[in-house]
Amino acid sequence: MHDEVPGERTRVAACAAPSAGAALEPTTIERRPLGPHDVAIAIQYCGVCHSDVHQVHGDWGDGTFPMVPGHEIAGVVTAIGPDVTKHAVGDRVGVGVIVGSCRECTMCEQGLEQYCAGSVETYAATDRYHGGGPTHGGYSTHIVTDEHFVLRVPDSLPLEAAAPLLCAGITTYSPLKHWNAGPGTKVAVLGLGGLGHLAVKIAHAMGAEVTVLSRSLSKKDDGLGLGADHFHATDDPATFDQLAGTFDLILCTVSSRLDVGAYLALLANGGTMVYLGITDEPLDVSVFSLLRGRASLAGSQIGGMAETQEMLDFCGRHGIGADVEVIGADRLNEAFERVRHGDVRYRFVVDASTFEA
Ligand code: NAP
Ligand code: ZN
Ligand code: ZN
Repeated sequence: MHDEVPGERTRVAACAAPSAGAALEPTTIERRPLGPHDVAIAIQYCGVCHSDVHQVHGDWGDGTFPMVPGHEIAGVVTAIGPDVTKHAVGDRVGVGVIVGSCRECTMCEQGLEQYCAGSVETYAATDRYHGGGPTHGGYSTHIVTDEHFVLRVPDSLPLEAAAPLLCAGITTYSPLKHWNAGPGTKVAVLGLGGLGHLAVKIAHAMGAEVTVLSRSLSKKDDGLGLGADHFHATDDPATFDQLAGTFDLILCTVSSRLDVGAYLALLANGGTMVYLGITDEPLDVSVFSLLRGRASLAGSQIGGMAETQEMLDFCGRHGIGADVEVIGADRLNEAFERVRHGDVRYRFVVDASTFEA
């Protein structure tokens, strides 16, 4: 763990929400001086995750303001601290949802840093390394991060398509691995947005039989093009009769309240429904819907550093990146509105060269 390191802080351009629910606006923020294990990164692209939208809108009731969101960061290393061994100047790298953890608890020892009680989120958290100020995310031109939380981006992936892998990619890869998606397994992806479209690509590449469950059939051609074998509309009651008892695994990427029992009934015996999408409303689940078919209802949160690197390498080998709409900083507020209304195909990515103070 670092203490305050000597040296000048750097002022860089960023976009911040001044208060909960406010529009994002241009600003400048400070980045800490380079510590011995730190990597300085010139950000090129940053994805717009629905969690950014939740956080800025105060949906989860926490967070510090002004808030600079952004945790799907891809860029190039511009400087390294004297003790850095993993990265070199010029490397193509990424930073995801966390930038710190205690590094010594049982979770950290197992490479599950995302479940460490001392994990530090990339923005709106307390920067335990340097002076206790707030962390600032990737809606900015530069970031300074401990090398342990910096990942290599494979050369085969364009940085704009790789950026969303740092959150949406690992959040779907980790449960697919954990619940053994692969040849012979039937996986349903509920909600075809940022997480959902990467879940389809990754599950397909793992060899699973993939079904998209979307509110309507309007994205059917897209879903099949992404690698899904089947596509069904959840606004059609016949879907629930037709697919009863089908899936080994359902990944739920929806961020609003659902009839959980209706989806548990779609699981094959012993199947698991995993919550990835976050609603702050309590779930309303009948115990009978779990007993019947020995169902499991689970949750999963991003992934650890080693697994995130494994996911990036997997995506590099399979040519998997996000389908992105690149925007300038001036369109971030519009992008937030569209994400809130489910109107995105399939990830907005902001071009960091457009951040101006
Ligand atoms: P997104 O791009 O907005 O996708 C969510 C999808 O949910 C939409 O595309 C839509 O798909 C579906 N949906 C169903 N009901 C909806 C409604 N009432 N309004 C809007 N969309 C609805 O979001 P995302 O970036 O993939 O994130 C999804 C959720 O995962 C968010 O809650 C986010 O905070 C959470 N998240 C969790 C983790 C984690 O570690 N667990 C990590 C990242 C994000 P259809 O149109 O196909 O129905
Ligand atoms: Zn995210
Ligand atoms: Zn720990």
